[in-house]
Amino acid sequence: MKSTPIVQILEPFLLQKKVELYIKREDLNHPVISGNKLRKLKYNLLEACRLGYDTLLTFGGAFSNHIYAVAGAGSEFGFKTIGLIRGEEHRPLNHTLSFARERGMELHYIDRNSYRKKQEVDFLKGLEHRFGPFYLLPEGGTNELAIEGCKEMAEEIDESFHFVCCPVGTGGTLAGIIRGLGGRKKVIGFSSLKGDFLTNEVSALVGEFYENWNIENDYHFGGYAKIKPELINFILDFEQKHQIPLEPIYTGKMLYGIYDLIGKGGFPTNSKILALHTGGLQGNLGFSFRKSLQR
Ligand SMILES: *Cc1c(COP(=O)(O)O)cnc(C)c1O
Repeated sequence: MKSTPIVQILEPFLLQKKVELYIKREDLNHPVISGNKLRKLKYNLLEACRLGYDTLLTFGGAFSNHIYAVAGAGSEFGFKTIGLIRGEEHRPLNHTLSFARERGMELHYIDRNSYRKKQEVDFLKGLEHRFGPFYLLPEGGTNELAIEGCKEMAEEIDESFHFVCCPVGTGGTLAGIIRGLGGRKKVIGFSSLKGDFLTNEVSALVGEFYENWNIENDYHFGGYAKIKPELINFILDFEQKHQIPLEPIYTGKMLYGIYDLIGKGGFPTNSKILALHTGGLQGNLGFSFRKSLQR
């Protein structure tokens, strides 16, 4: 994987606050799969290959960027893919699921009760009985190998930055960044979910030896996939000024949070801040959001 570009964001507000803001364009890392989901898949795909699997099986909601990425990676790298989707089928398929199907993913719908059992041994045995052998990718794609893949993003960040910011869903990406940077820079996660449980979950993923990070829990805008007019206005304004597309689930919330913290003096003078653009533009909400802007 080529390392992705880092661009500086220039505007009077940042000059006035005496901080520098840069964006690492992970959204440009691959034409189809794009963003952190590809980083999370890399070592899992190599492992599936090494173990001789030709099928990937995974779980997700109907709007999942992970489902999109697994379907894309499967067709790109020659795996059969099976997606178990939470809930009932809705026709027509949304953008994410129709893409997945075009890419050859076999879609099955499971009710919410069964979905909760997705990590239980008996349930997984049943799936193997039904579908044959498969390499299992967890919902959201977070596992140890995913964290290894995300560490490589950190290796592309040079020493001059003081802060690295990253959006958080399951926390796998953030955990990889924290481990990759090994405490050398302050890492700030911006949670897209309501609640403060993610600090514990990410602690478990990074291990106790890593410090110098925290999660901001005040920028979820009501919870996962929830939006508010001030978020949308911020995204539109940012895109117009800087020609960098954002989506409202992860990257928009993170950048809103960064600007808010800068405004409140949350970063010391002369800070050099790097924000990770984790992609998500191709996914359903990113996609329909973009379409709604094109009217
Ligand atoms: C999935 C996703 C995230 C969250 O990644 P986690 O590793 O689950 O925390 C962030 N940004 C985008 C665009 C995503 O699709």
